[in-house]
Amino acid sequence: MIFESNQIGFGASGRNGGWCSGFLPVTLSELEKTHGRIAAIEMYKESFRTLDEIENVITDLQIDCDYHRGGTINGATNLVQKSRVDAEISEMRRFGFGEDDYRTLTRDELSNRLNISDVITASYTPHCAALNPAKLVQGLANAVENLGVEIYENTNVVEYADRHVKTQNHGCKANIVIRATEGFTSQIKRHRRTLAPLYSYMVATEPLTPRQLSTLGWQNRETYHDARNMIIYAQLTQDNRIAFGGRGAPYHFASRVKPQYDVHTEIHEKIIRSMRDVFRVSRELEVTHRWGGPLGVPRNWKPSVNFDPKTGLGSLGGYVGDGVAAANLAARTLAHLIINDKHPLTDLPWVNHPSRKWEIEPLRYIGINGLLKISESMDDHESKHNKPDKIRSFILEKFLGD
Ligand SMILES: Cc1cc2nc3c(=O)[nH]c(=O)nc-3n(C[C@H](O)[C@H](O)[C@H](O)COP(=O)(O)OP(=O)(O)OC[C@H]3O[C@@H](n4cnc5c(N)ncnc54)[C@H](O)[C@@H]3O)c2cc1C
Repeated sequence: MIFESNQIGFGASGRNGGWCSGFLPVTLSELEKTHGRIAAIEMYKESFRTLDEIENVITDLQIDCDYHRGGTINGATNLVQKSRVDAEISEMRRFGFGEDDYRTLTRDELSNRLNISDVITASYTPHCAALNPAKLVQGLANAVENLGVEIYENTNVVEYADRHVKTQNHGCKANIVIRATEGFTSQIKRHRRTLAPLYSYMVATEPLTPRQLSTLGWQNRETYHDARNMIIYAQLTQDNRIAFGGRGAPYHFASRVKPQYDVHTEIHEKIIRSMRDVFRVSRELEVTHRWGGPLGVPRNWKPSVNFDPKTGLGSLGGYVGDGVAAANLAARTLAHLIINDKHPLTDLPWVNHPSRKWEIEPLRYIGINGLLKISESMDDHESKHNKPDKIRSFILEKFLGD
């Protein structure tokens, strides 16, 4: 039985940037520190394999969600970004991942894949696909309904405890209760400080003409981002639109989540400016769609899968904006924890490794918004001076630590 306070796909799953990525918001080194080298490698391998799993599911269930695995390109537009891209490749090598997993693109290779100016170097990994998230989530909902799962839309869970869920109108008994509420978690009683809702915003252009598409040379629908601190992400949709997103919107006091926050004129304008910088051809294109939504961020910025067989309570998420593929891996892991079959997935480092809670207000507000400002000003500093901003990097690292 699924309770959904709005309609299926209302959350980030129905409105994300459609990156189905095998990469996680936690690095191999971070995982090594807490769980050791082998566990770190296994976590990444499972995350990469998740794309095969998703491909099998959408093929078996015939879910038409514009899926295409073209990989992803990470560009660097200044020397600091270059050092970040190089460091990422060295880290992959240090953990035994080879050229097939992650590699530098030569200038020619880059321009054959995606002809954008200003990029001084770029890396490529095949572990990412582009898809239409709303079509995926609707297809999955239909599939589970066909298997007999009851989905109750417009049913808000206000509170839950062991073996019990309370909706706005009813109470319900359940042996197992799983919370999968991501960016909306702070709205549930006793969970105000579990995950902070940070907003990500997106725009989409009208479809590129064949001439514009050939100028760009974007043949294989690779997703694109660059190595700035304030994340941007782009994909070419199946109907040849550029869908471009960015994070960095201000956090709302007391973790508030409201429908009016889903559009943010100032941030959307900023995102459009970034898109026009990255993809010059988009200056000729009209922006036809703007949207946004909350994503869930734990205090340690690391997702987790949690289950307590004694109480039957579980939770998954805190994907920090990288949840399309990770939600699949997390859900499969949770299924094995529930049936207790000792499956290897249940040994992954994110199992039963929840984060501590966020600070109380106004510390949370000051901390998160301060961090966002620092990230943005670091990007300005790096592009102006072509060297790292050591003081701000130090503050950022301290804040992002466990
Ligand atoms: C604009 C944007 C772009 C993104 N781009 C990407 C991307 O390109 N790639 C990527 O990997 N990730 C991306 N993400 C993040 C990704 O979409 C999420 O991590 C992922 O979809 C989370 O899935 P979920 O099912 O856990 O949560 P959600 O999809 O948020 O679903 C939670 C659901 O729970 C419901 N709910 C909440 N509270 C209650 C309650 N009390 N009672 C009942 N129901 C409730 C909500 O209505 C919602 O439908 C993006 C997110 C945003 C907002």
